[in-house]
Amino acid sequence: PFKLSERAQSLKPSATVAVTSRALELQRQGLDVISMSVGEPDFDTPPHVKAAAIQAIEQGKTKYTAVSGIPELREAISEKFRRENGLHHAPDSVTVTSGGKQALFNAFFALLDAGDEVLIPAPYWVSYPEMVALTGAVPVSVPTSPDTGFMLDIDLLASKITPRTRMIVLNSPSNPTGAVFPPDTLRAVAELAQQHNLVIVTDEIYEHLVYDAEQVSIGTYAPEHTLTINGASKAYAMTGWRIGYAGGPKHVIAAMNALQSQSTSNASSISQYAALAALVQHEETTKFIEMAKAAYRERRGVMVQGLNALGLPTPTPHGAFYVMANTDRIHENELEAARIILDEARVAVVPGTDFAAPHQVRLSYATSMENIQEVLRRLGQLVK
Ligand code: PLP
Repeated sequence: PFKLSERAQSLKPSATVAVTSRALELQRQGLDVISMSVGEPDFDTPPHVKAAAIQAIEQGKTKYTAVSGIPELREAISEKFRRENGLHHAPDSVTVTSGGKQALFNAFFALLDAGDEVLIPAPYWVSYPEMVALTGAVPVSVPTSPDTGFMLDIDLLASKITPRTRMIVLNSPSNPTGAVFPPDTLRAVAELAQQHNLVIVTDEIYEHLVYDAEQVSIGTYAPEHTLTINGASKAYAMTGWRIGYAGGPKHVIAAMNALQSQSTSNASSISQYAALAALVQHEETTKFIEMAKAAYRERRGVMVQGLNALGLPTPTPHGAFYVMANTDRIHENELEAARIILDEARVAVVPGTDFAAPHQVRLSYATSMENIQEVLRRLGQLVK
């Protein structure tokens, strides 16, 4: 057979795939498996967003657009950054991508060379180290602990900086930990970036899902050093529409556009008009976000309390829609624990292995309260 590229071969096979395919297999056998592993809102995309997409189709807005996105959308994103984040990015310092994922991918390829080091707080979203490694750069993890609610230790972060360090990746609120870094921490990270001439890539895709913490954009502290990534997926329940965006220094955005022009070109024109409606029909969108947030907050309370009561220690996350539960009580190895939870309780969870979160599994509470209660009941029987 043909040989695969070194790059393709270097992609780490996911440890979670085994659990996911086992879950699917059990479902195919007709068994009632409840999935707590999904990373998307369980709400439908709001009606005003759908209507805008239908209208775009009917009006023939179905052709190529500018690589960086339609001007109206870049204008709306620029305004959103100003209004919601206190960031000042003119429309030509904004780019629209096929999901936040592509914005991150373009950013890493625009900014990193082989051998550059990238600091990533752990537990982390798996795609960061994988994408960074694809560029030839070296992901360096900065551990955080459930004992401190996964807060970032600035001294530890600073101690990892070497002459090769180029970038710090932040994700607050975090997938998988739900941690929200406080303003003081962000200010300290911004200062480090300025002192050492580092670029901060901040993934703020969960910014609206913050429950009892203050959400601040680090770009307000170090605008020349920060690239802010965001998207429509989590805030507006639009995962399938594939709209992400970035705002930052103009030369970085230009390099990201050049990369995109030679790969995927513009994000879907129809989805861009839908995202535009989500951003400009502000009142409807805010109502939707508040509704979703209230539901997540309630579910979070039930999950955290329920899991702790079962002897599966779970810190209260302050944002996003995930909890990390310690599963030592079930098995000291989290992969094994996830397998037991699936086989015996018929609940699909994600082992922390790939997130650099040993002894823990991730459960998403972007699912109905009914499911959450049933999951707690099943886990209760399992640990008994
Ligand atoms: N960033 C984080 C932390 C995520 O959890 C996700 C999705 O799971 C994304 C980015 C990418 O989302 P999308 O590409 O749908 O915008």
